Amino acid sequence: MSQTNLTVVLKATNELQKKIIDFYKEEALDKVPPYAIFSAKTDDCVITLYQSGKLMFQGKRAEEESAIWSSLGLADAQKKSSVKSESGQAKALLAGEKTKSQAGGFLDTTSVGSDEVGTGDYFGPVVVTASFVPEEKFSWMVGLGVRDSKKLTDEKIRQIAPKLMENILHKTQVLDNDTYNDLRDEGVNLNVMKARMHNACLGEVLKNDEAKTSLVVVDQFEPEAAYYRHLNDQQSVISGITFMTKAEDKCLSVAASSIISRYVFLQEVKAMQEKYGLKEEIPLGAGAGVDAYGAEILKERGEDFLRHIAKLHFANTEKIKSMI
Ligand code: MG
Repeated sequence: MSQTNLTVVLKATNELQKKIIDFYKEEALDKVPPYAIFSAKTDDCVITLYQSGKLMFQGKRAEEESAIWSSLGLADAQKKSSVKSESGQAKALLAGEKTKSQAGGFLDTTSVGSDEVGTGDYFGPVVVTASFVPEEKFSWMVGLGVRDSKKLTDEKIRQIAPKLMENILHKTQVLDNDTYNDLRDEGVNLNVMKARMHNACLGEVLKNDEAKTSLVVVDQFEPEAAYYRHLNDQQSVISGITFMTKAEDKCLSVAASSIISRYVFLQEVKAMQEKYGLKEEIPLGAGAGVDAYGAEILKERGEDFLRHIAKLHFANTEKIKSMI
C-alpha cells in the first residue's frame, strides 16, 4: 500500500528527461531545488528531475506516478516500486515487456476502456463512456494532452473532448436524474446502474471488428464478482474484462472515456440549467455550496422539482430539507 510520504528514485535517460519535462509542463513549479533542472507537482506527488538524471517522485502517489515511467524501459530503478493491480493480465502489462514511448506513460496496448462520472455529484446525471483506442492514435492523444480527467481543468476538457469524440470510436450513456431516482425507488442501487451502463457501452463499442480483439478495461468501482452479479439479469454480458483501479491514469482508452464522460456531464448540467430556467450555475460535487443551492431550489420550486435535477438518496437531501 502507498505510504504517506513515499519516495521513489529513478535514473532517467535523456529521452525520458525530455518526456518528463513535456508531460508535466502544465504542473511545473517555478522554483526548483538546487541542482534540479525541473520540478512539478501533481495532486499527490512531487516530481523532481536533477542535472545528474536522478528523477525523484515524492508523496502519496509516488509509486503509481513513477511506475508509469519505469514501465517505459527508459529508466533504471534505484529503488524498485511496484504497482498493485486487480488482475494478472494488467500486472503483466504494467510490467511492460514491450513498451513504446509514444503512449506517453500509459499502457502501450490497444484497448477498449470505460469510465463514468457524476456519481459524486448531487446534481446532474450519471454518464458512462466506453472508447476504443488503437495504438496508432497514441501519439496524437498524448500530444493533445490526454490525461486523467481529474487532473484536467474543465476548460481543458472542453477543448480536448470534442476532438476525441470526433476521432475515437466511443459510446456514451446518460442516466438522467428522473430515471435515476425512479430506479432507486425500485431498489436498484448505484453500482447496479453503473454496471449496466458500462456493459451496454462496452457492448456497443465491441461491435467493431478491430475493437473486438483488444484488451477490455473497466475503471474498477467494485470487485469483479459483484460487477458480474449485477448483470445477472442482462441478456448480453461482456466478459473477459480487466478491472483496474485508477485506470484513467494507466490506460488511454479509459482516460478518453473519462474525459468524454466529464464533457458530456458538463453539457448535460448546463442543458438542465437552461431547460428549467435556473438563474445561477448549478454547483457540482456534494459540498456545502450544493446544500445552499439546493435549499434555494427547494424553497422556490418545492420538493418534487428536486427530483428532476438531483440524486435524491444523497445525504444532501436531508440536509437541504433541514435548512429551510
Ligand atoms: Mg472511474
